[in-house]
Amino acid sequence: MEKELLNEQEIERILTRITHEILEKNKGAQNICLIGIVTGGVYLAERIKNKIKETEGIDVPLGVLDISFYRDDINISKKRKTIKPTNIPFSIDNRTVILVDDVLFTGRSTRAAMDALMDFGRPAQIQLAVLIDRGHRELPIMANYTGKYIPTSREEKIKVNFKETTGKDSVLLIKQ
Ligand code: 5GP
Ligand code: MG
Repeated sequence: MEKELLNEQEIERILTRITHEILEKNKGAQNICLIGIVTGGVYLAERIKNKIKETEGIDVPLGVLDISFYRDDINISKKRKTIKPTNIPFSIDNRTVILVDDVLFTGRSTRAAMDALMDFGRPAQIQLAVLIDRGHRELPIMANYTGKYIPTSREEKIKVNFKETTGKDSVLLIKQ
């Protein structure tokens, strides 16, 4: 069974709000960079980058992080890796890094992303932005910017559709 939780317009408004929260918390965009976690986080990070450009006129550096290598509890998908491999073509030293992911669940991906980032440099700060927080944390991790908190059962899944891949943005709750 599928239930639509967010439509295109709602997702757009959420991303506008998160962008403004990021700008408010960091007093502008001067010292920040965005890192999208493959693959959904990359689309979201690109949207936020565009919105920052529109409101502040600043081109924030955008990197891509694939953490499947750092996750010890999931199978590495070869297919995923060929789509968007890790690419951070700028220094993160002394910058505020904003990690962007589509869904926050146990927190293990975020932990792995933070581990991976430490290999790239020494950020001044790391913040986390997610579209959906579905609960069930196994680590002491929370997002600085949350699109929507959706309490789920472990069996339920969130499906995030992106214009870039399916032609339309939406968030669905999938019940088995
Ligand atoms: P965690 O590592 O916090 O357990 O899970 C977060 C990662 O797994 C995110 O990168 C997210 O894309 C993916 N994920 C976990 N649960 C879901 C879900 O219900 N739906 C989607 N689309 N991704 C999920
Ligand atoms: Mg993901």
